Formats: sequence, C-alpha cells, structure tokens
Amino acid sequence: MDLGLKGRRALVCAASRGLGKACAMALAAEGCDVTIVARRPDVLAHAADDIRDCTGATVTAVAADVASAAGRALVLAALPDPDILVTNAGGPPPGDFRDWDRDRWIAALDANMLAPIEMIRATLDAMIVRRWGRIVNITSGAVKAPIDVLGLSNGARAGLTGFVAGLARTAVRHGVTINNLLPGPFDTDRLAVVLAAQAAKDGITPEEAHRRRAAANPAGRFGDPAEFGAFCAFVCSDQAGYMTGQNLLLDGGAYPGVF
Ligand code: NAP
Repeated sequence: MDLGLKGRRALVCAASRGLGKACAMALAAEGCDVTIVARRPDVLAHAADDIRDCTGATVTAVAADVASAAGRALVLAALPDPDILVTNAGGPPPGDFRDWDRDRWIAALDANMLAPIEMIRATLDAMIVRRWGRIVNITSGAVKAPIDVLGLSNGARAGLTGFVAGLARTAVRHGVTINNLLPGPFDTDRLAVVLAAQAAKDGITPEEAHRRRAAANPAGRFGDPAEFGAFCAFVCSDQAGYMTGQNLLLDGGAYPGVF
C-alpha cells in the first residue's frame, strides 16, 4: 500500500531512541523528510545517521528540550510548518504520590501535557490552511488502565487526552486528524526504568520483573518499537484521513476491556 507520505515533512519529538525514533524511521521509510528532536546531541546525531542510512531520507536533527519554551522555539525555527507532528517526551519517573510536591507535578504536566499542546498550537493552523495534516501524540496505555507507580503519567496524560478529544473534532473537516497512540510495554530504555522500579517494589531482580511482565502479556512478549513506528506511519497516511480523536492501544491485548 502506498501511504501517500512521499515528500511530507514530519516533525518527530523525542526521537533519538525508543518509540519516537521508530516513528521517525517508519515515516522516513515512507518517503517523508523527517526532523527529529531530543536533548542529548550525540545520541540524536547517531539516530539521524541511522535513519539516513536505513532509508536514504533527508533527516534534520535538532537538539532541544521539548518540555521548555526555549527548546520548542529552536524546534519550530528548524521546521515551523510540518505536515506531520508526532508529539512525545520522556515519561515522568515512577514513585509514590506522597513524595511528589507541586514542582514535580508541574514538570510532568510540562513534559506530557503542555508541551504537546504547545506544539499543536504552533502548527495546527498552518495545516488547516494547507488542508492536510496529521498529529499523533504518543501517550500511554496507562491512560486507559492507570498503573499505580506511574501516577504522574496517569494524571498528565489524562489531561492531554481530554483536551485532544475536543480539539480533534474541530480540525478534521479541514483535512487534519489528531490521534493518540497508547503504548503498552514496548522493549525500550523507558521500559527498563519502569521495570527496575517495579522490581524494587516487589523485592525481585529487574531480570525477573522483565520475565514476569513479558510472560503476563497475552502476546507473551513485549512490543517491538518497529511495530509501533509502522502503525504510526499508517495513522499518518492518506488512507487514515477519516479517523480522528482516537486513543489507539498497542499493548499485545493487555488491556482486558471490550472498549
Ligand atoms: P525512551 O526509550 O526512554 O526514549 C525517550 C526519547 O525521548 C529519547 O530519545 C530521549 O532523548 C527523548 N526525550 C526525553 N525527554 C525529552 C525532552 N524533554 N525533550 C526532547 N526529547 C526528549 O522512551 P520510550 O520507551 O520510547 O517512550 C516514549 C514515551 O512513551 C514516553 O513518554 C513513555 O513514558 C511512553 N510509554 C512508553 C512505554 C514503553 O513500554 N516503552 C509504555 C507506555 C508509555 P534525550 O534523553 O536525549 O532527550
């Protein structure tokens, strides 16, 4: 299937590793010019080389913190009018809500709720004028099934999800869709951090936590980031133009509900 993405300009936030990088890789493979963002310039440059080598695409790397206004300004100076925006940032640390003061909550809201909203605010209207755009927010399966140690994530992402649900219905008649991808357990560095915290809580080794969690998933394994990236590319395709405001769960069937 030709996804109709050749020549589209994609901006993928938090994309030097993990799910963001996988989305950038898949979009580049479909013919997009991609701009990728992350904070550490060395890791980012390596990711850009990797995507270029694998796809032959034009890749621009912007070292910036998307959770800060100054970082977002750098990103938007490099690509002010993307056709495709993938919002993403690192997840907040796991822990116990008794230990989180206001500053901790504000940091989580900045990274996982307000940064995506600010990026959408800066790019949506130009997409509407061009009558084509795709916005994909990487959130979490925890939006549907909150995880106790990830309270900061549960709270911040619920706020973004509610906001997007309203906005998406106003943009789709102009050819712009806004959807959220909800990862379950994908084999990335972030998952290793979450499993280490769970292991400490349960008094087991990280390896044992890894084994138990993979075995407990209906698929019997963790997700491969490449599966996530390919799905992101489809959500950005011409063919997906009638789907908006959706929360799309990719979790191997871990969420047990019907809806
Ligand atoms: P990851 O492997 O830790 O990669 C995170 C990427 O984001 C890195 O490239 C990192 O580079 C970049 N990044 C982090 N904070 C940033 C910031 N403020 N500005 C710019 N770049 C930033 O994480 P992942 O597993 O791909 O997860 C991506 C998102 O999905 C996270 O929000 C995570 O909580 C969520 N999620 C993941 C899973 C999973 O199983 N993997 C499940 C549910 C939800 P730098 O550190 O150099 O900036």
